[in-house]
Amino acid sequence: MADYKIAVLPGDGIGQEVTAQAQAVLEAAGGRFGVSFEFSEALAGGSAYDATGEPLPADTINLCRASDAVLFGAVGGPKWDGLSRAERPEYAILTLRQEFNLFANLRPAVMFDPLVDASSLKADVVRGLDLLVVREGVGGIYFGQPRGIEQVSADEERAIDTMVYSTPEIRRIVRVGFEMAALRGKKLASVDKENVLDNSRLWRRVAEEVAKDFPDIALSHVLVDNAAMQLIRDPLQFDVIVTENMFGDILSDAASMLTGSIGMLGSASLNEKGFGIYEPVHGTAPDIAGQDKANPIAAIMSAAMLCRYTLKRTDIAEAIEAAVSKALEEGLRTPDIHTPGMKLVGCVEMGECVKRHAGG
Ligand code: NAD
Repeated sequence: MADYKIAVLPGDGIGQEVTAQAQAVLEAAGGRFGVSFEFSEALAGGSAYDATGEPLPADTINLCRASDAVLFGAVGGPKWDGLSRAERPEYAILTLRQEFNLFANLRPAVMFDPLVDASSLKADVVRGLDLLVVREGVGGIYFGQPRGIEQVSADEERAIDTMVYSTPEIRRIVRVGFEMAALRGKKLASVDKENVLDNSRLWRRVAEEVAKDFPDIALSHVLVDNAAMQLIRDPLQFDVIVTENMFGDILSDAASMLTGSIGMLGSASLNEKGFGIYEPVHGTAPDIAGQDKANPIAAIMSAAMLCRYTLKRTDIAEAIEAAVSKALEEGLRTPDIHTPGMKLVGCVEMGECVKRHAGG
């Protein structure tokens, strides 16, 4: 029997291409440390809708429930854009987050030194960048009730979204922020909009309470507009950022672009038990799907996160990250990170090179 059961949900578009590479790298790195995996694949997103009429079939949810972790690709594409909300491919990932209560979304932004010139910011601003955004993922304005668009009069409609957080919801995500900071650079920036929102006033009060349990972590409070500015001005000042759902959605995308390409960044969505879904930050990239042009590194880095956060195997995680660095140092580049003089490769060749190094 294998040591760990991993559910593999490649999804649509390049999700299928990059997940295959991430799975192969995970298997090779595990093998090097004597750890075995049983991988089981299931449908999610548009491909699931085409096959079953649902973006997240019950079989897929059951497989995830019976697994230690989920390796997820990406879902969606123009083919399914006209479907209703509950039929759309994106519904699969939202449902998984709610089904497994994946309240903590971890998005690291790491600058690999060989890619420092691929960033849109100056090399000196981003060299050495290594920050982690911890985003609340199941509450706030994306899920609060009441919501909807209502008819006010014959020629007027009104839209309502509700931002709502309770103290337990804030406490558990802020605590994850502190725990991550404790494992890293011991600095936590809690991002809110305390000057305007009652939600943020409560958030800040709870963050101060939780801070008492972490006396060696330096906590700062940053208003979200300032946080956006600081991320572009001086991103190296940040270690861990913790914030609510919508602010985290926006800030983590900004942070990811500091590193040059969205094709480099993995993410984790975790619940209180450490169960998690690991997926690249990017989508299905319909413009390059099926052409062996996708960068598999984001998916591979997600597999490294799986080892670190669910399996608690830092050694395997570090072996995977080191293998990515080696492939980049050798000059391999997919089109999204290619610069003159470097070796242009496809998704498969990049994946195979990382796999070779990860396997030792
Ligand atoms: P996208 O991330 O798919 O693509 C944005 C741009 O980045 C494109 O030019 C694409 O070619 C490029 N890109 C993305 N990943 C890349 C990679 N690994 N290597 C090289 N280049 C890469 O975002 P989009 O175009 O806004 O969305 C396309 C579809 O993906 C939509 O249907 C959207 O809903 C879906 N989507 C899904 C997820 C998810 O499954 N979690 C996340 C974002 C978007």
